[in-house]
Amino acid sequence: MSLKQACLIDSLFIETDLEKPILYEPLEPKLAHDTIIETIDIMQKSCVHKNNNPNLYIEVEKISHEHLSELIDQGWCRRGKRVMKPILDDTTCCSRYGLRTELTKFRLTRSLKISLKRMKKYIQTNVPDLSETCQEEKSEAHPELSQEELLDFTQKEMEEFLRTATKEKSKKGDDIDKVLGEELKEIAKGGKHNIEVSLVALNSPEFNATYQESFDLFCKWNRAVHDQEDWCNKEFFDTSFCITPLQNIQDEDNELGVMGTFHLHFRIDGKLVGVAEIDILTKYLCVNLNWYHPEYRVIGIGIFMIMSNMSLAYQISKVRPELKYFSGGVIETNRPRQNYKCYLSTEMLCDWTRRWVPIADAVRKIHEAKGRYASFLPNELPMKLSDFFSISCLFNGETHHFGRIRKQIKNEKELEENLRGLSKAAGLVANEFIVKIQS
Ligand SMILES: [Zn+2]
Repeated sequence: MSLKQACLIDSLFIETDLEKPILYEPLEPKLAHDTIIETIDIMQKSCVHKNNNPNLYIEVEKISHEHLSELIDQGWCRRGKRVMKPILDDTTCCSRYGLRTELTKFRLTRSLKISLKRMKKYIQTNVPDLSETCQEEKSEAHPELSQEELLDFTQKEMEEFLRTATKEKSKKGDDIDKVLGEELKEIAKGGKHNIEVSLVALNSPEFNATYQESFDLFCKWNRAVHDQEDWCNKEFFDTSFCITPLQNIQDEDNELGVMGTFHLHFRIDGKLVGVAEIDILTKYLCVNLNWYHPEYRVIGIGIFMIMSNMSLAYQISKVRPELKYFSGGVIETNRPRQNYKCYLSTEMLCDWTRRWVPIADAVRKIHEAKGRYASFLPNELPMKLSDFFSISCLFNGETHHFGRIRKQIKNEKELEENLRGLSKAAGLVANEFIVKIQS
């Protein structure tokens, strides 16, 4: 099936819904829902070609850990109170796809080992081991390389990646605890330097006491690594990385019995050198952003931070087996800096079916499509959509299905468009949300 046909079928599904008679009963007038949406809208994101690519976003008053997990499974990611999803179709210039790592399938590649070895040598002896370079760092460090290449793999890199990924696929995953845990434990022992990693809950006394230090590091990282001066202000920092619509749950008897948003602090000899903003959800541990001291890049701080997050996810999964995945968010084609994410992930999300496919198969499809939008499973049935007429709306203090109250809503058409978009972007889980409507 061609993409055009696919889109046609997609829209037919929605049109059929429109013909349905409205038979919905009013809902219980209580807020039993765990996720409350305040705004639904579209925002544009500029790609490397300076073209605008649309994202549907929702701004939420609150969202449950389970619902956010479901949205990650549909290719969404969170920033502050906004949860967003790239809208992908034939017109998309640079596509963005969800990525995840199944913890039991993760393998510590040679190149990741090199990066960890470098960190270990620095901590133990104060001299980084720079004898070998690793792929992950290479892609992070040379954003200017071959912009035309898809996912910025050169043909040779692509072949190498596919060869390794295909070979790795047939193997069993590493015991993360044994392989990665041992490496990290060695580093944690220290030597010439002392390294500490701590989990800091948002708005905790420790969070507030280290806020300025964290913000200063964030600005330093932005200026040096991304040359982004406009991110260096407290308002942006606060609304993007210091607030969360998730409830923070802590278990006093068990350090790992936590859910919610946290900052993972990395200190070397007491100095804050890295911060990871993470969400610990039912099914996922997601890294939303890592920022670190640019001077420590040469010793592989970025990879060390990601590996520590991966190890944390694994530790939590031993206490709570439903947490099965690590997610580094979405990857954008033609953003060389993000290539390292491919080496850390085992699966990529097919937007057409919303099914996860092995990373090597997905990368091959993207490569064939030359950076344009690609369905990884074009011959499979499309994702299931929710019926947007039955999405719950909070209107005049009561909760009803949209289909029942739409005639009373002033900007009915606009809301209908937004709910249709939400249904397409979120799939069936949209029917579990509640959307606040201005009367
Ligand atoms: Zn583009």
